[in-house]
Amino acid sequence: MLEERSAGAVLFHRDKGMNIFLLLHYPAGHWDFPKGNIEKGESDIETVRREVKEETGISDITIFEGFKKIIEYNYRRNSSVVHKRVTYYLAESAITDVKISFEHLGYEWLNYNDSMKKLTFKNAKTVLEAANEFLKQKSDSKTLDRFVSQPPQGQKTQE
Ligand code: ATP
Repeated sequence: MLEERSAGAVLFHRDKGMNIFLLLHYPAGHWDFPKGNIEKGESDIETVRREVKEETGISDITIFEGFKKIIEYNYRRNSSVVHKRVTYYLAESAITDVKISFEHLGYEWLNYNDSMKKLTFKNAKTVLEAANEFLKQKSDSKTLDRFVSQPPQGQKTQE
């Protein structure tokens, strides 16, 4: 069986105290989070930063400590079965201006309930549910602004 490893982000934006989440419309038809294959020599976090930048144009994201969810699924590619593992992190964007790449058909920023309805796959809904719970707990304990990962040195930030 072919093995594939991807990393992605539950990317959210805080809008007047409410969180909205970014979903992408994949050419295969499903709605899912930004994600992509982990390249050789790359860490999960590096993949998340690169993929979010490539797929949305957003380069300044804050990735949170303490949230990491792995999902696995099999899909058929031509005559082979691919076993895929996707590691999700939780990331915040201060902006909602998205420049979608050729890799997707569209995007939507949606609140939690609408995101749960829009996401195609149950395992992705489970990731969002966990992210939402995590955010609720963190906002209660006022530790939401903690970085796990700084942008690479030399990268422009939007402070
Ligand atoms: P990547 O964003 O990692 O480059 P991709 O666009 O190449 O991904 P996937 O989004 O993994 O590919 O989709 C490949 C196939 O797997 C599609 O047929 C899709 O329907 C199916 N698929 C995608 N996500 C899931 C999931 N969470 N659970 C089950 N099947 C999925």
